[in-house]
Parts: sequence; structure tokens; C-alpha cells
Amino acid sequence: MGEQSKVHEIRWNPLICQWIIVAGHRGRRPWRPEEKGLACPFCPGTPETKDLGVWDVIVLPNKFPALSPKALKVPRFHMGFFRVRRAVGICEVIVETPMHEGDLCDIDLDHMRKVVDVFAKEYSRLGSLNYIKYVAEFRNKGKEIGVSLTHPHSQIYALPFIPPRIMCELKSFKRYFKKKNRCLLCDIIKIEYEEGSRLIYENKHFTALLPYFAMWPYEIHVYSKRHVQALPDLNEEEKLHLADILRVVTATYNTLFERDMPYMMVFHQKPTDKKNYNYYHMHIEFYQPYRDKDKLKYAAGIEWGFWIFTYDGIPEKKAHELREACGKALKKLDKYLGKIP
Ligand SMILES: [Zn+2]
Ligand SMILES: [Zn+2]
Ligand SMILES: [Zn+2]
Repeated sequence: MGEQSKVHEIRWNPLICQWIIVAGHRGRRPWRPEEKGLACPFCPGTPETKDLGVWDVIVLPNKFPALSPKALKVPRFHMGFFRVRRAVGICEVIVETPMHEGDLCDIDLDHMRKVVDVFAKEYSRLGSLNYIKYVAEFRNKGKEIGVSLTHPHSQIYALPFIPPRIMCELKSFKRYFKKKNRCLLCDIIKIEYEEGSRLIYENKHFTALLPYFAMWPYEIHVYSKRHVQALPDLNEEEKLHLADILRVVTATYNTLFERDMPYMMVFHQKPTDKKNYNYYHMHIEFYQPYRDKDKLKYAAGIEWGFWIFTYDGIPEKKAHELREACGKALKKLDKYLGKIP
């Protein structure tokens, strides 16, 4: 700690050509404060939220940000052989509900539409800042994947660079578009409908499926039926349908093994550096770490050391399980939380 906890910069890993965010102060992040009898910072009336009056969804600054607009210049003694840059950026938390527990499926449909709207607005607002190249929006749920606060919340990292996974997707979409003059994801959606065996749920504007090339046992992708690049491109009706499908997917997970499920939800949208990304197609990916009722799938040596994923099982079989769970989940959802018209 001490001097070292002040190190805050972005270092370049020249072996794999990736930026690493180094944030010394994040080592002091609290772990599950309520287990120590401390107040939840996201509940109404705590110091973080008390000035906001009555709210249903709020955006708060991340108290332990990996990136900051005020990040100091990198001290001279840190420069030398290695590449390094200022850790500028913005980290925020979206608290989706004043309720202390629950999941997206426990939020009623109209409220959830507001949550989608906040994701869209923050993407536009942060993306318009000149030092931001990418707005990464995501949600982690469950202590299995290291979430330190139980209260339902998502996160935003507004980044000064485009994440490597997005770079990789952009390259694939661009190459495909050059060759076929069509969108890669629009074609994937067409094929998935023809085959049908991996579809899980659809409404008028969105489709949820387990992709042919899933890496996680119960991975689910949510695709917009219209070719759009980011959340602000959606019209009001589409936002409502996105709210619906996010509730259905999370309810499906919680029904699958009749237990509250951890997951990661990530929005893959175009970068915000004002270049042309018309060939890209926005989507949402869900990764769920269980491969069975109480068996976790760990990313370990082969995954981390070589970036090779092994899929334990048969994707079409897991998709079938998810489709059945979805059917049960829909009955519960319809009853009390609003149904898409
Ligand atoms: Zn709370
Ligand atoms: Zn498309
Ligand atoms: Zn993606």
C-alpha cells in the first residue's frame, strides 16, 4: 500500500498487444459489506443515494474506479522500455432498482424499459466525450464470479481504447461484409431460424438463442432483428421488447436449476470514436458459469493460457434445456410483472 496504492495507469502488454488497467486503489474495495453488518451503499437513504429523492433507477459514480477523468499524468519514472498511458475514462454503476435483492426478471416490464433507456442514454453521453473510444456496459451477478455487492446493479466502463474482443468482432464483421456485402449477424440469425435447434425465445424485435459456437455451457445471445449498431439506434417499441427479453433470459436462468443463478451480461455495441461501423450488428451476450446444477465451469489453464474453450456437453441439448426452462419461466413472469402487448 502507501505509495504503491497510488499507481494508476494503463500498461501495454507487448506479448499479446493488449492494454492492462493498473489501479492500486482498487485493492481496498470492500467485500460484501452487509456480511460485516455494514449498510448497503445502493439502498435508498444511504450517503451515496440520499440526495436523489425518490428514484427507480439511478447512475452513481463507481467509488473505486479503474479509470478516472482526473487520472494523473504517468510519472516520468514509469516510462522507459514499456508503453504506458494515463488511466483516463469513467466508471459508473447503474443501480436498477431500490430493491436490495433480486434480478432483472424481478423488475416489472415498464421499469425495466427505463433501465434499458438509461443504458442507451449513458452510452450516448459518455461516448460523446472526446477521450472516450468505447463504452463498455455490463452486468455481473453472483458471488461465484466475484460480485462484491448483492444489490442489483450493472456497470459501465467508458474506455480510452477499443477492447480487444470488440476489435476482433469488428474485424470479422468487416471481412464478411467486404466479401458478401451482407451482415454476418443478420446471416447468422437467418441460419439459426432455419435450423431452429438452438432458439430459446423470441419477441417481435429480439431473439434469444444459444449460439452454435457457444463457449460457456449455457451461453445465451440476444440479437436485435433489425440491423442496428448500438442501443440509441433502437426506437421506443424496440426498447420495450429488449426490456422484455432481458427479463425472460434472466428468469430462464433462475428457473433452469431452480436456484438463483450467477451470470455475466455484456452489451456488444459499436465503438464511439465516430468512425463508420455500419457493418456491425449490436448484440448482448450472457455467460453463465454453471455446467450443471452445482458444478461450476472454470476458465483455467487451457482457457486462460491458450484462449481455447472446451464446451462440456452438446450445445443443442443445453439449448433444449434452456427452452424448457424458458417455458416455465414465462408462466411465472406473465402472472405478476407485465407482459409484452
Ligand atoms: Zn441495497
Ligand atoms: Zn446485421
Ligand atoms: Zn459479441
